[in-house]
Amino acid sequence: MMLGIECTAHTFGVGITDKGKILANVRDMYKPAKGGIVPMDAAVHHKDTADFLYKKALAESGINEKKIKAIALSNAPGLAPCLIEGMKFAKRKAKELGVKLIPVNHCIAHLEIGQHEGAKDPVLLYASGANTQIIAFSDNKYRVFGETLDSGVGNFIDTFARHCGIAFPGGPEIEKLALKGKYMELPYSVKGMDVSFSGMQTKLKQMYDSGIKVEDLSYSMQEHAFAMLVEAAERALAHTGKKELVLGGGVACNSRLQEMCRIMCKERGARYFCPPKDLLVDNAAMIAFTGELMIKKDKRLLIGSDELDIAPRERTDDVKVTWR
Ligand code: AMP
Ligand code: MG
Repeated sequence: MMLGIECTAHTFGVGITDKGKILANVRDMYKPAKGGIVPMDAAVHHKDTADFLYKKALAESGINEKKIKAIALSNAPGLAPCLIEGMKFAKRKAKELGVKLIPVNHCIAHLEIGQHEGAKDPVLLYASGANTQIIAFSDNKYRVFGETLDSGVGNFIDTFARHCGIAFPGGPEIEKLALKGKYMELPYSVKGMDVSFSGMQTKLKQMYDSGIKVEDLSYSMQEHAFAMLVEAAERALAHTGKKELVLGGGVACNSRLQEMCRIMCKERGARYFCPPKDLLVDNAAMIAFTGELMIKKDKRLLIGSDELDIAPRERTDDVKVTWR
């Protein structure tokens, strides 16, 4: 059995998997009282919740901790203070349990958990707070086929929401407001395979300040931002010749984004996979699941505590893939 630990940003999670089966997946999210994430505060949150979540995961799985054979840690990419707390916890548990560790790239885990839903070789549309990337495995690497040139789509939505007096995370509230809004033209920016949100951000703020209804802005923002993501994802499907789309990241909880993706897949005869919310957001089951996949093919990926380190800026295509 594999223990997974997720710690890259606001969420600390503990998951347990056994040969691809998810036995436990618990998490707790740090929520700033005001404004955006303060990395040091998120790290304190991780430190304070780790032991409790570990016990909760064991209880949920019903297994004895002695059954744990290895520990997978999301060591990259992410906020350094958060990664360090996760690593400390992983090393302490590895010592207590007498097991080895396996570092897992968080973005790759969002792609691989698609296998749990039945995908085999998908394109991932990863739409989260800090990350917005379109990733697929091609030519021995997980490659980024498109990405944001400025902020992640979630941060973009949250920043706009904050400007309108809506607390973090703004996405869910904006989704509700959008139901009552009407369409207005906004800057639409797809450059090659990449997307950019800063022009739309500036325009939205100006429109809000000039008195335009937040409902109309929310609706129009979603229509433009999500169409940009779906356009880039569709190009990636066309370019790679792949026939499966998997969603990942907190923004993928949005029903309108899901609907747009479903329609696009239907029109081009691709299969559409949207994992349940627990596996869509940052979670540790996907880390354990990916760790298991990796060592099934390559046992050398298991390392000792002194070899494990964090890699806050590791890019998806930096990862050396020896397990596929
Ligand atoms: P993550 O970084 O993957 O944990 O996702 C967090 C981000 O997802 C935040 O920016 C949220 O505002 C955003 N989010 C969560 N639910 C929704 C939703 N229903 N619609 C749009 N964005 C959302
Ligand atoms: Mg994530």
